[in-house]
Amino acid sequence: MCGIVGYIGSKRAADIVIDGLKKLEYRGYDSAGVGLIENGKLEIIKKKGRVVNTEESIPKTFNGGVAIGHTRWATHGVPSDNNSHPHRSESIAVVHNGIIENYAVLKKELEEEGILFQSETDTEVIPHLIKSAISHSMSDIHKKKREACYLHAVLMAIKKLKGSYALAILNSDFPDTIVCVKKGSPLVVSKSESSVFVASDVEVASSHGKNVYILEDDEMVLLRSDEVSFFDMNGREKEKDPMEYISNESADGFAGNPHYMLKEIKEIPQAIHETAKSVENCFLKLPKWKLNKLKKIIIVGCGTAYHAGLSAKTILETHTGIPVANEIASEFRYSNPIIDKNTLVILVSQSGETADTIAALDIAKKKKALTLAVVNNATSALAMEADCKITTRAGKEIAVASTKAYNSQLVALYSFALYLSVVLRKINSQKARELKSKIMETTSISRQVIEMGLDKIDKTIIDIFKNEKAVMFLGRGVDYATAAEASLKLKEISYIHCESYPAGELKHGTIALIEEGYLVVAYLTDSLLKDKTLNALYEVKARGAKVFAITNQELPKDAYDYIYHVPSIGIFSPITSIIPMQIISYFTAIAKDYDPDKPRNLAKSVTVE
Ligand code: GLU
Repeated sequence: MCGIVGYIGSKRAADIVIDGLKKLEYRGYDSAGVGLIENGKLEIIKKKGRVVNTEESIPKTFNGGVAIGHTRWATHGVPSDNNSHPHRSESIAVVHNGIIENYAVLKKELEEEGILFQSETDTEVIPHLIKSAISHSMSDIHKKKREACYLHAVLMAIKKLKGSYALAILNSDFPDTIVCVKKGSPLVVSKSESSVFVASDVEVASSHGKNVYILEDDEMVLLRSDEVSFFDMNGREKEKDPMEYISNESADGFAGNPHYMLKEIKEIPQAIHETAKSVENCFLKLPKWKLNKLKKIIIVGCGTAYHAGLSAKTILETHTGIPVANEIASEFRYSNPIIDKNTLVILVSQSGETADTIAALDIAKKKKALTLAVVNNATSALAMEADCKITTRAGKEIAVASTKAYNSQLVALYSFALYLSVVLRKINSQKARELKSKIMETTSISRQVIEMGLDKIDKTIIDIFKNEKAVMFLGRGVDYATAAEASLKLKEISYIHCESYPAGELKHGTIALIEEGYLVVAYLTDSLLKDKTLNALYEVKARGAKVFAITNQELPKDAYDYIYHVPSIGIFSPITSIIPMQIISYFTAIAKDYDPDKPRNLAKSVTVE
């Protein structure tokens, strides 16, 4: 979470860093700050709230060419001016993405040395540790040597940290440098002829130079306007080649829409089409001989990505005959899973930088499982470190609430299920082609569903949702996965308490919540389980609930209060049946006057544990 930027060059660094922070604001937006070197002095401007608050506070006279910046997603300490980054210790300023898990011990030691802390953050220990390491090692030695001592001091400080960090460090004693270190949180450096830029995100970094260096864990980099030098954690300089990164993102902002979320919903057909078209190329790189030996599949993810895995379980099991388990990454990583070389662990993450999912990958690799990343960012940590990867082609997703990435993950996972069933000779290629063409059809069907949704989802429908205190989402089988994702969508941007339940499980406890007027949204797209879900609808209606049914079936009139029809595409229905609730969630947030792109307490890629 959080966005980091840094710039050294001949332009006004404040402008460049603020521009970068605005592009990264989707990663964290409770506060922002900038550290600049102005006439050799370190200046820090930081403010609670959006980047624009910080921007407005930077004096117009600050024209220096070196700066670092940060948009925060608070882990330790409330969002406030004081807790915003950068944090400083005399000449040193630090911006940090991640969590320092042993900060309390370090803080106590530093306080015992007489250091006064200015914030409640975990981050503030870092500048003090660096300053303290410098004071122990630096005397009046000549400049080159002093710089080596400074880098050594950074490493000494880093070695004391436990947790995850991407850091950009400014030191007014070395005013033409920025030092960055990475462990567990992303950082990308880009270089052009006369400037160097660093950012948390490859898209933003590459907007300043096509030659990018993607930092690996335990790397330190010293940036100067004309030079980039890499070091390992022992301070040994190392070679690192840049890679050329050509963005396939169009820089069209909102493309005429009031929010990214609406723009991204409208991009679903293209995301589905591009993913369905290109995904076969990814499969060709999978080791067939290993796939042939699989005994178990585990799909790991968080939030929306977890729901995508949940949705893919049925098709994978029915078409491959291999048992599939779904795991929440933050649980899986500490679960000592029973897996081996005959297990396929599929790790789903839009950003490919989700800290819990990366930790899950580490466990899977340690246990020798075959690992497959399903990511929307081909240069992400997950993509680079898994044995193989499937890249979804959703294009950049900025709105915090995921939409088109989810539809693309379903396309990727469902297509993979078909591919695997052919490899395992469970279905023949002819059958697989027929099914694949059905997946392709979801492109045009999603277009219809969106057009119909934008036309039909009017004030009357939004009024059903907007004043609710709580909504229950029900479904069975794949419809339960869709219900879970629909519930997450509505709760994360409208702040309505939403629960999702497998419809048959309701009577074992949760039905106690149902009372007169309670809103229940039910998904019924699976013809085999429809009648079973209907039983639950009668049960909740008997207790006074209002039922909003989303279905591609004919339903008895007394089973619902509102009905929303979606097209049927057989087993692939979930790819498009989620769309009405994506649209309803968006318009409910708007009706409640919330910003759907930047919901409270959330950030786009969760790079902290
Ligand atoms: N842990 C730090 C804080 O709470 C950094 C959080 C972030 O990644 O934005 O300030």
